[in-house]
Amino acid sequence: MSHLIHRNLRRTPPVAVRAQGITITDSAGRTYLDASGGAAVSSLGHGHPAVLAAMHAQIDRSAYAHTAFFTCEAAEELAARLAADAPGDLDHVYLVSGGSEAMETALKLARQYHLEAGQPQRSVFLARRQSYHGNTLGALAVGGNAWRRHPFAPLLIDVPHVAPCYEYRDRADGQSTDDYTAALLRELEDAIRAAGPDKLIAFVAETVVGATAGAVPPTPGYFRGVRKLCDQYGLLLILDEVMCGMGRSGTLYAFEQEGVLPDLVVLGKGLGAGYQPIGAVLARAPIVRRLRDGSGAFQHGHTYMGHPVAAAAALAVQKVIQKENLLGAVTVRGAALRRMLREAFGQHPHVGDIRGRGLLIGLELVQDRASKAPFDPALRLHALIKDEAMARGLMVYPMGGTIDGRQGDHILLAPPFIATEAELADITSRLADALAAALRAPDI
Ligand code: PLP
Repeated sequence: MSHLIHRNLRRTPPVAVRAQGITITDSAGRTYLDASGGAAVSSLGHGHPAVLAAMHAQIDRSAYAHTAFFTCEAAEELAARLAADAPGDLDHVYLVSGGSEAMETALKLARQYHLEAGQPQRSVFLARRQSYHGNTLGALAVGGNAWRRHPFAPLLIDVPHVAPCYEYRDRADGQSTDDYTAALLRELEDAIRAAGPDKLIAFVAETVVGATAGAVPPTPGYFRGVRKLCDQYGLLLILDEVMCGMGRSGTLYAFEQEGVLPDLVVLGKGLGAGYQPIGAVLARAPIVRRLRDGSGAFQHGHTYMGHPVAAAAALAVQKVIQKENLLGAVTVRGAALRRMLREAFGQHPHVGDIRGRGLLIGLELVQDRASKAPFDPALRLHALIKDEAMARGLMVYPMGGTIDGRQGDHILLAPPFIATEAELADITSRLADALAAALRAPDI
């Protein structure tokens, strides 16, 4: 019996003992192609020598010094680099240990920004359905899946949720993409008015919706419209790029492809690429200036914030991305993988949509392509596919069709940026076998 509390309390997963390049090996000697980068984490693959060397060097110098007493070179250098590489005046960086902590940080920073301007009545966040922002209570409250929030509802702040930008499911037959986008923005403006614009702190959204909806990109102009409404009504715009950020979309930040500048950006996963637990919030200059000129302190903090080894790992990851020109690789390899997936599944009767940005790609599974009717969630098709894929030495990230009852099962592919075309072809062919095997299950 394992004493660890695992995700699945009834099943202990294989024991990972070695990881190199795009493969992970378990204690029974089986190897798995990491086609999902874990959960869109391992952007450089495993065992990258430059990142390991940077971590070792930092551990040898100083593994930890509490931020109440010291700062450290690695955290300072990482922050300077992130600020230099980010567009506009996203000049300030708060370092934490993961995506949920980063989201909590952004929520509190946004609240304190309004407080320091004498606007204590601004106490409500606005967010979207079909989104995931983390599992801590604040992040869960802004997250957009009722089934995730439900068990903890009495503990959560009240957050109004508007429709996500989910063209495959929600654009009506005959409706143009522009009209669909305009309708979403009207709904958002109505929600702002209904909540009372002077009560709102910020609008929170994933730029490309990750695991919850399966790599759903925004329609053209959607985020420009959102930015305009936020400016008009005095809300901050918080973009969650925990999954789609740090190069996974083909640009360092996915919002760069939308022509907008958010006020706060939430980061995790690819920032440390799995080498260390690290998350961050990027903040625009006026936000930090207001706190600095006001109370002089951000009322927040964590024991492991600005951790030297985590910062050294993340800094090394950023340097590798630049040195090996991996942003360009993401665009090229993402297009190649989408082409392979379209060849393999473009006519598949149960693959309704293949979508995404860069190397963040989702496949939505449907019972019927024409009606887009999902499979019965009780069949747990996504879990069957994951199991069949693991049996074939392939990791894909599954999500159920239970999400508020209006979406098919889907699987997420987010391979490391270093994956070769041959490896991407291997991933596609193993996935085709796994899908065929899952669809042969007795009840399907
Ligand atoms: N935001 C998004 C978009 C995510 O995908 C995740 C994790 O999956 C989080 C936030 C939470 O990050 P973490 O699991 O590191 O707390």
